[in-house]
Amino acid sequence: MALIKLCPNCNRRNQARDAECERCGTSLSMAQVMDAPALSPPRLTLNHRPLYVPMQLELVIGRSDRETGWAPDIDLTPYGGSSTTGISRRHVRLVWNGKWQIEDLNSSNGTYLNHRRLIPGEPLPLLPGSIIQVGKLYLVYHG
Ligand SMILES: [Zn+2]
Repeated sequence: MALIKLCPNCNRRNQARDAECERCGTSLSMAQVMDAPALSPPRLTLNHRPLYVPMQLELVIGRSDRETGWAPDIDLTPYGGSSTTGISRRHVRLVWNGKWQIEDLNSSNGTYLNHRRLIPGEPLPLLPGSIIQVGKLYLVYHG
């Protein structure tokens, strides 16, 4: 177990002694110190290339929006993620609660876990070797 503070702005998991969010700089003075299950970031690959995954309890996967400058936690744009390949800006998210779960964010083209379509808002657990189809892209969760 680890003592942490969640950023009230971006949900990043910060160390309990931090005064400001390491990512967005929001003051953590109002954030409660909590005991969280040790976070183990998910290992994900796309076409055998490892994806960069920030240390967070919630990871939104999608594509960035050039006009507003917004980017998801895991940005598939450099990997061919676009509206043409069926990727929504906020497509699917991974949530940590001691293990990783996956939840479709009501994406236009859906998310498939091991070839079964996820029901938006109904998270399912990820198991090592799970194949996550996001639009036309395939990600593999390695645990
Ligand atoms: Zn923050």
